[in-house]
Amino acid sequence: MQVAFSKPQSTDSGAPVPDIPAAVDVAVVGAGVIGLSIAWRLALRGLATAVFEREAVGAGASLAATGMLAAAAEHEPGCRDLLALALESQRQWPKFRAALEAQSGRDIDFREGGTLVVALNRDEVERLRFRHDLHKRCGLPTRWLGGPEVRAMEPGLRGSVAAGLHCADDHQVDPRLVMAALRAAYVAAGGRLFEHCAVAGIDLEGGRVAGVTTDRGSCRAPAVVLAAGAWTRDVLPPSLVVPVRPLKGQALAVQTTGDTGTLAHIVWTEQIHMAPKSDGRLIVCATVEERGFDDAITAGGLFALLEGARRAFPAIEEMPVEAAWTGFRPSSIDDAPILGATSIPGLVLATGHHRNGYLLAPATAFAIEALIADGALPAVAEPFGLDRFDAAAVWQGENVTAENAKAEYETGMLR
Ligand SMILES: Cc1cc2nc3c(=O)[nH]c(=O)nc-3n(C[C@H](O)[C@H](O)[C@H](O)COP(=O)(O)OP(=O)(O)OC[C@H]3O[C@@H](n4cnc5c(N)ncnc54)[C@H](O)[C@@H]3O)c2cc1C
Repeated sequence: MQVAFSKPQSTDSGAPVPDIPAAVDVAVVGAGVIGLSIAWRLALRGLATAVFEREAVGAGASLAATGMLAAAAEHEPGCRDLLALALESQRQWPKFRAALEAQSGRDIDFREGGTLVVALNRDEVERLRFRHDLHKRCGLPTRWLGGPEVRAMEPGLRGSVAAGLHCADDHQVDPRLVMAALRAAYVAAGGRLFEHCAVAGIDLEGGRVAGVTTDRGSCRAPAVVLAAGAWTRDVLPPSLVVPVRPLKGQALAVQTTGDTGTLAHIVWTEQIHMAPKSDGRLIVCATVEERGFDDAITAGGLFALLEGARRAFPAIEEMPVEAAWTGFRPSSIDDAPILGATSIPGLVLATGHHRNGYLLAPATAFAIEALIADGALPAVAEPFGLDRFDAAAVWQGENVTAENAKAEYETGMLR
């Protein structure tokens, strides 16, 4: 079987490219899960909206993602504000999903089995206990499981699995289906989408936003939402510093069958995550690498993913590899998104969603909708403004990207 070393295919319709409008109410830069979710909500509010995408819908990180909505499993010490936003978004997902599926006429494979975080030896059990204690302190309803209980939920896991944590609310979606649904729902709501149309710069007049200049002409707009993911810094006016960089992830998909068996839940180990999809694919993700925009699929990356998967789930050895790919998470220096207004009136940021763009899409979309349509961010999104960074001290231009980021993130290659 031939292995396609590429990301899942984009949802580009291939239709002829329409002329861009002379003026809209809101221009959105980037048609990833964040840009399209925001644009869809704004279009539903009756605002004339145009999304400009350099490549095709989802071509950035969004089609590289696994689609886990893992508010509990992702929670790290010291990230209480982020947990509040993540839980709010997780709570909003069923409503977001219902509207998305109804308005697009498409299923997004929303699966509710929850996430099992497993420990495969005694050291991992101790670290998992620490994680469980953290969850209890934060009021997260995760449940401790002994080895036999884990195996009862997932009989295919290796017999030596020692313990687990069931994060029952950490569901998942299929990114390919979500992106196709977002495109359809946005267009059905009257939004205008321009693929293969790169934004070269944000136009300013009298110190405030006046629109965007694209490679196919200019479009005037009193509000511009910058949702260009890991490429955010390329589009910024020179006066703004936004601490977002690409954080490379390699992932792969294997095909499961009745003979090989599969998993019923998302399974996390300390090395990898495995997410079963309803079409029979099992996604194994993801490396975490400071490599700039280097998109190579490496032997080391694939080895780490497969070795990590086999350590927990031996049956993977028999499964045909369907695809492998890389993606670039838009990561800020505190792993949290950057949302809201900037010092330039009319310019709104929605970037830096790191490993959680799908999880945070509803909360981000509702927050930016509230900011633009009603004039204020909801309280849960307020801690995520650009003003939380001391730009002068932390981001002294380009060379900080490598240094600070490395120090912050050099925690091993995987996860
Ligand atoms: C391997 C991997 C696994 C992941 N798994 C998960 C997961 O399980 N759950 C989860 O919640 N998150 C996951 N993530 C993270 C998630 O993919 C991102 O947080 C999310 O996709 C970010 O969405 P975005 O719309 O901000 O960025 P992107 O999807 O990168 O979209 C930005 C878009 O802007 C476009 N663009 C850039 N510059 C310009 C320009 N000048 N003009 C026009 N368009 C431009 C790009 O082409 C791109 O399409 C994963 C990421 C990776 C890499």
